Amino acid sequence: MPKKKLGPMDIYPLLPKTNCGKCPQKVCMGFAVQLAERNVSLEDCPPLFEDPKYKENLAKLQELLAPPIREVVIGTPKRRVKIGGELVLRRHELRYLNPTAFAIVVDDEMAEDELVKKVKEVENFKYTYIGMDLKLDMVAVRSKSNDPSKFEKTVKKVAETTDMPLVLWSFDPSTMEKGLEVVKDRNPLLYAATKDNWQDMGELALKYKCPLTVYSPNDLNMLKSIVTALKTWGIQDLTIDVGCDFGEGIKDTINSLTMLRIAGIEGTDEVLGLPIVGTPVTLWDKEREEKNPEIIRWKEACLAAMMIVRYVDLLMLSSATMWSTLPLVILRNNIYNDPRKPVSVEPGLRVFGNPDPENAPVFVTSNFALTYYTVLSDIEKLDCYLLVVDTEGTSVESAVAGRKFTADKVAEVIQSSKIEEKIKHRTIIIPGKAARLKGDIEDATKWDVLVGPQDSSGIPAFLKENWEGKDHTPGWSYKT
Ligand code: SF4
Repeated sequence: MPKKKLGPMDIYPLLPKTNCGKCPQKVCMGFAVQLAERNVSLEDCPPLFEDPKYKENLAKLQELLAPPIREVVIGTPKRRVKIGGELVLRRHELRYLNPTAFAIVVDDEMAEDELVKKVKEVENFKYTYIGMDLKLDMVAVRSKSNDPSKFEKTVKKVAETTDMPLVLWSFDPSTMEKGLEVVKDRNPLLYAATKDNWQDMGELALKYKCPLTVYSPNDLNMLKSIVTALKTWGIQDLTIDVGCDFGEGIKDTINSLTMLRIAGIEGTDEVLGLPIVGTPVTLWDKEREEKNPEIIRWKEACLAAMMIVRYVDLLMLSSATMWSTLPLVILRNNIYNDPRKPVSVEPGLRVFGNPDPENAPVFVTSNFALTYYTVLSDIEKLDCYLLVVDTEGTSVESAVAGRKFTADKVAEVIQSSKIEEKIKHRTIIIPGKAARLKGDIEDATKWDVLVGPQDSSGIPAFLKENWEGKDHTPGWSYKT
């Protein structure tokens, strides 16, 4: 049965209704509203867990709030990744909750120094994008040799090099157990149970209490049978992989992923309400004829991008190479941000370099993160001030049209930032896209207003022509 969308009144009757003030919302109805929107979690209401009289209601709430796609945790409380846990098929229906995790694959045929270097690359991968640090999540250790002692040695080296969550990749149960013994306290994901090994792999998952992937390429019925059998054994932390392909096979890959997630979310097949694992890295096995590795890397990145869009919760990739991995982490970020909240930065004053209070330029922009960081990249090497207006995370053009970037808001940020106590002149440079507010801003602020370029990349040229060598002290005006 599909789960119905929860409203506050589904939740409120089951809360303590004491308005004790221990949650961020302070009152139970406010908490119910935020819980329905998944902005808080049940753990934010301590009385539910502390007082035994709420035990029954807590169990009901946990069942009510359980996502149709099970959330599976890989790793330890110190460093872990959550995958799945999704509530909706389309992100604008609420938002996606746990971003696709990226695991970079190393194997037991790599030389030790090469192995360590690659693991450190994964650990150190970082790209700052509109104020956020985008990183990789996991290391997957694959047994290529099928030699248990080689696998054990490789897993040990990886575990010594990083505390990132791990995937152990082998279809041979005895090889898997050798590696698993080394990291049994790290709660790795076991990849994978197949039609041939599922009983042995299931026993390992039970014995070591680890999550397990069921891999059944192009055979949904087999996948469901294995998942059902493992669930009856009491193994709940399962993930599923139906295989993937490029070229001719890409249509089937995308269709399978879509059908899996629809069945899971809509509850038409509860067996399939599990996180999906994708292995674009296997293109390197399938494309052995291709002599140019950059072509395979490109295909791998394209396939991975499509799989991010099509609900894959964990991707296994061959490398942390910047040109192929960076687009993927940005795509993931864009899909998994909250569509209800524009990405924004704090409004207020920013100071760049060592501005001279007598004549340093003062720019104004909106607090939409993309606009802010674009402007920042164009002015951060100058000695200047930047006033960031609270436009509720919308760009300048939209904010002007929607009356979120107004003369009063500019006056407000001038006042709240106390910039008038810091500088001697009273001339402000507004974005070209806010040109029509020039007169209103002058009236509201009593500052002189210069209309800057349409695009912040034009700021250096604009300053040369309109600012440098000019007098901006009070009483002076461009209009005179
Ligand atoms: S902590 Fe729980 S009981 Fe207290 S106000 Fe919040 S929701 Fe109500």
